Amino acid sequence: MLLELKDVSLAYGRIVALHGISLTVDEGEIVALIGANGAGKSTTMRAVSGLRPVLKGSISFDGQDITKMRADLRVIRGVSQSPEGRGIFPGMSVRENLEMGAYTRRNRPEIDKDLERVFGLFPRLKEREKQSGGTMSGGEQQMLAVGRALMSRPKLLLLDEPSMGLAPMLIQQIFDIIVEINQQGTTVLLVEQNAQQALSRAHRAYVLETGRIVKEGTGAELLHDPAVKDAYLGVA
Ligand code: ATP
Repeated sequence: MLLELKDVSLAYGRIVALHGISLTVDEGEIVALIGANGAGKSTTMRAVSGLRPVLKGSISFDGQDITKMRADLRVIRGVSQSPEGRGIFPGMSVRENLEMGAYTRRNRPEIDKDLERVFGLFPRLKEREKQSGGTMSGGEQQMLAVGRALMSRPKLLLLDEPSMGLAPMLIQQIFDIIVEINQQGTTVLLVEQNAQQALSRAHRAYVLETGRIVKEGTGAELLHDPAVKDAYLGVA
């Protein structure tokens, strides 16, 4: 098991956003978190990446308890997040943005190899290598954010709403790339509003409602679950 959350609770001041979440991600999997707005999906990601401290419960990653570990040290251990809302550096070029993703690493030949890998996954980024990040289209910025997260060569890639704001054709494309990244050996934990795509691509998924996990199963099981269909897939 690569990642395990046990009974994790998290609060923003007095607002409790997670009420005892338990979930696991095995090495090699794509696991999706789905749920309505405000269900706690992004908060769960923040707990894993260390951007918010947990109130109780524990998080272990790659055999180590990381519950209280600083976020930057988690990146070094192999957890990398591509945040919701992209969060790229607008004044830096595409290439510089990607280089920033490798800031914890020192091995230049390895970094160059990973740059080539990212350019292979996203040819658009290669074409626009020198363009400043802020002038890229929404979809391109999304790709840049995913590419940057890959530059730390993570064992676990956390993707928060990778399809947000993308045109339908680009949504297909970004999910194809996520599957490819996974097939190249990176484990993926994914938050998505687009439950249809997420469930059809994920090995397993969890359904969150108001800070609690209410259902889990394989992507295919949940895709055919009547309650999930009704609530999240827009078909009865
Ligand atoms: P969405 O899909 O809308 O982003 P989500 O499932 O990712 O939703 P979260 O962003 O994790 O939901 O939010 C869970 C709860 O925590 C919500 O009630 C939200 O209002 C609250 N919350 C999130 N961030 C903060 C914050 N910085 N301060 C206070 N409350 C917050």
